[in-house]
Amino acid sequence: MSILVVGSVAYDTVETPFGRAERVLGGSASFFSVAASFFSPVNLVGVVGRDFGDEQLAAFRDRPIDLEGLERMEGETFHWQGKYSLDLNSRDTICTDLNVFEFFQPKIPTRYRGSEVVFLGNIDPVLQRRVLEQVERPRIVACDTMNFWIHGKPDELRKTLEKVQILLVNDQEARELSGEWNLVKAAAAIRAMGPRTVVVKKGEHGVLMFDDAGCFAAPALPLETVFDPTGAGDTFAGGFLGYLASTGQEGDAALRRAVIVGSTLASFCVEAFSLDRLVTLSRPEIDERYRAFERLTRFESL
Ligand code: AMP
Repeated sequence: MSILVVGSVAYDTVETPFGRAERVLGGSASFFSVAASFFSPVNLVGVVGRDFGDEQLAAFRDRPIDLEGLERMEGETFHWQGKYSLDLNSRDTICTDLNVFEFFQPKIPTRYRGSEVVFLGNIDPVLQRRVLEQVERPRIVACDTMNFWIHGKPDELRKTLEKVQILLVNDQEARELSGEWNLVKAAAAIRAMGPRTVVVKKGEHGVLMFDDAGCFAAPALPLETVFDPTGAGDTFAGGFLGYLASTGQEGDAALRRAVIVGSTLASFCVEAFSLDRLVTLSRPEIDERYRAFERLTRFESL
């Protein structure tokens, strides 16, 4: 099954305790697409400016990522700058230059309209719904959002959530969206808003997934090298949905495997700046790390 992703394609400037990367490839749709492309074909919808050259497109080349929907507009590409704390657990946004992203009106190419899986990256919830109006009958609609929209456009976000089956958010966003501090209560409140499945990402503390079958918990892989967490959430989403689309299954067992595939891809993403580790990644490396997750979490019955 092919996946339609709508989100940002960006230049990121990132500072971590280990160094600084200036105007490197970033954006939710970029991380998502490369991660998902290991499992399923991806149709990318986004916008870049005239300053986005062939060099940046190299990350998408030789992968099943269709770029007909990547619009090029007059002006500069979206630029985001962030700085991480010493323990990498929190970050400050130094600047967000929307540039061409400010005028982004997603146009879904005719060829993409039959996509069976849709990922609505973190954009204005009004635009997220406009995307859904242009697709035919997707089997799975998944969505990301952030505090900016939770507080800025709560009613619009609620309307979007009614049309979404899977919501992926971090723990803080789940709390703010639901008004509940406890994550079990928060997930129940969010499921009542529409999404049958809620995936709560907790950074180095792993992931909780809530669906019809109950709750599934996955740790993050304890890693020696954590270099830059930027894009880990979108990479998780790419692995998660890419895998689901490749199986064609939607039950709890497939969702659980998808959580581990997403966690596997995210564990590679954080090992280097930008998409540097993802673009050198191979399928055997993914399979080996998936098995490391199995070993990490396996235990015998009493
Ligand atoms: P994550 O670390 O998963 O939250 O994703 C970080 C990516 O999101 C970076 O590559 C940024 O370019 C992108 N990003 C940051 N702020 C925004 C925003 N307001 N809208 C869309 N994308 C953003």
